[in-house]
Amino acid sequence: MRRVVAALVAGAVVVSLAACAPERVPVAPATTAPVILPSPIAKVKSFFDKHKYSIDDPLSIWVINDKLRPLNPINYAPPDMVQAKVRSIFTPLMRPEAAAAIEKMFAAAKAEGAGEMLIQNSYRSYQTQVNVHQNWVNQLGEKGADAQSARAGYSEHQTGWTADVGAYPAKCSITQCFGDTPQGKWLAANAWRFGFVIRYPEGKQDVTGYIYEPWHVRYVGTYLSTEMHETGILTLEEFFDLPPAPDYAN
Ligand SMILES: [Zn+2]
Repeated sequence: MRRVVAALVAGAVVVSLAACAPERVPVAPATTAPVILPSPIAKVKSFFDKHKYSIDDPLSIWVINDKLRPLNPINYAPPDMVQAKVRSIFTPLMRPEAAAAIEKMFAAAKAEGAGEMLIQNSYRSYQTQVNVHQNWVNQLGEKGADAQSARAGYSEHQTGWTADVGAYPAKCSITQCFGDTPQGKWLAANAWRFGFVIRYPEGKQDVTGYIYEPWHVRYVGTYLSTEMHETGILTLEEFFDLPPAPDYAN
């Protein structure tokens, strides 16, 4: 999906009249000035279709759910999940496309010297999210819980497009220092190549509603991840001109 840089350089054309000149006619010295053709436009930026996939349908690789955009239906469950064939702590269920992509990504991380990775957590059902959130509410109250975990129906983990990943052997699991591990650094630089984005980047809590989570990757496909990488737009909300979602509406 890399953009093709078409740099056409015309070869220098030197025209000599010597070969066809009759012997008795004085030959004009061949011109030494090469003929340079003007170069065509070096880089053509292709149109990016922001409507290629739905951002509302939870089946879509572009579905955007945040604190202002609950899944519809709220108790949505993906129809076609598979187990990603990677190291993991729990059964790593994901949508098939995302599972295949994360398998490739982990293999590349290892091959490129970043080390081994694992999945901490991927699909969580509506009911699981109800329980996770309630546990936080019990510990921290509503407000504290909202800062730690999504309410049921609002979590990307419910879509099957998302995973929390970590280093193996475990280091800085589900903590921000994961971003400083070789695996975390590699992930930040390379996740886009495999169709993933770091969904909750540093300094974007006012937009995404979540603190920096260098471990939380979201599959969106390489068409979009490459465009976001190239344009330097870090969040789905900003890319699709959605309102920032720092908090729930109520
Ligand atoms: Zn997560």
